[in-house]
Amino acid sequence: MRELETFSSWVKDRHEYAKDWKKRTGGRVLGYFCTYVPEEILYAAGVLPVRVLGSHEPQNVTEPHIFGMFCPFCRDCLAQGLKGRYSYLDGLMIAQSCLHIRQAYTSWVLHIPIGFSYYLCMPHKVQSKRSYKFLRGELETFKNAVEKWTGRKIEEAALREAIQVYNENRRLMRQLFDLRKREEPPISGEEAMTISLAEQMVDKKEHNAALKELLGKLPQRKRERPTGTRLMIVGSEDDDLAFLHMVENLNKDQYPATFVIDEHCTGTRYFWNEAPEDSDPLMAIARRYIERPPCPSKDWEERKRIPHILQLARDFKVQGAIVMQQKFCDPHELDTVAIRKALEKEGIKTLFLEFDVTVPAGQFRIRVEAFLETLKQEDLF
Ligand code: SF4
Repeated sequence: MRELETFSSWVKDRHEYAKDWKKRTGGRVLGYFCTYVPEEILYAAGVLPVRVLGSHEPQNVTEPHIFGMFCPFCRDCLAQGLKGRYSYLDGLMIAQSCLHIRQAYTSWVLHIPIGFSYYLCMPHKVQSKRSYKFLRGELETFKNAVEKWTGRKIEEAALREAIQVYNENRRLMRQLFDLRKREEPPISGEEAMTISLAEQMVDKKEHNAALKELLGKLPQRKRERPTGTRLMIVGSEDDDLAFLHMVENLNKDQYPATFVIDEHCTGTRYFWNEAPEDSDPLMAIARRYIERPPCPSKDWEERKRIPHILQLARDFKVQGAIVMQQKFCDPHELDTVAIRKALEKEGIKTLFLEFDVTVPAGQFRIRVEAFLETLKQEDLF
């Protein structure tokens, strides 16, 4: 489908897109780690925020900089910087999330010259009522730093416009994902992940325009294959398109399967909630990031993530869930047992897989096939 190809080419040619965007607009590009980064402020300053992701290739450049028992995703991200793949970046930042990705950020700014770097103190205890005022203050400090860096004042109107553009993107993504609730979703999990990844790399206005075009056609699309088992994928950062492709095409005749929903920071956690448009813009942005579906590093004392996952499973009529985590990922490791228990209690079988982004997805083939076979047999009785 032509409308889907735009998103794939953005993901495939992400570096060329960013370089071309710079040429077209004269603007600056900032790489970021972690989806707690308040992109709206950057957007209002005319900066393109681009999420730093790995390349899924084996690498041997991070060993002197980052522990081998830190998650392979953050090592892969750092490798991209050390190999010069993001040499076009004008700035780099992180919002506090987990120690592993913070180490990738710290090593990057220490070893790769960059014009602007920023650590945003995003509170862990987002459930404290003091977090709103605290984060608003941090956002103000960040806004001042961006103004100094770009030499451009960020007016309130620009902030409001950025919030509107981002909210529109979130709404369009929710509309797109709602189509996956259908008995026969018009889109595969691999395609949906491609669209989610693309929105973290390209100008939101362009992404919105492409989404509108896609939504004009997608509801009428008939896929040439049965949906089969409705799967959910839950866990750490995950941009492993090859894995989703493998599962959805494993044994299309005997055990067809389709991912109908995800719960990843590279997927739904990134766009699920909007910022309120009727209040002080910095407070609206603070509220949006505090109240978003949480990363496990911020989900305490009340565990809000698990009820959210269960609600997604019900809304999207999930039959089986793949619960994955990047190897050594401490925050997700802590949640995995409780998530599996909660899903199994709900009657949803789970398969746990530990990923290393640099290892090909083929290693999981037999385990996934056995899982799909089990689910299929349950269907028969
Ligand atoms: S996958 Fe886990 S350890 Fe790695 S950056 Fe994300 S939260 Fe941190």
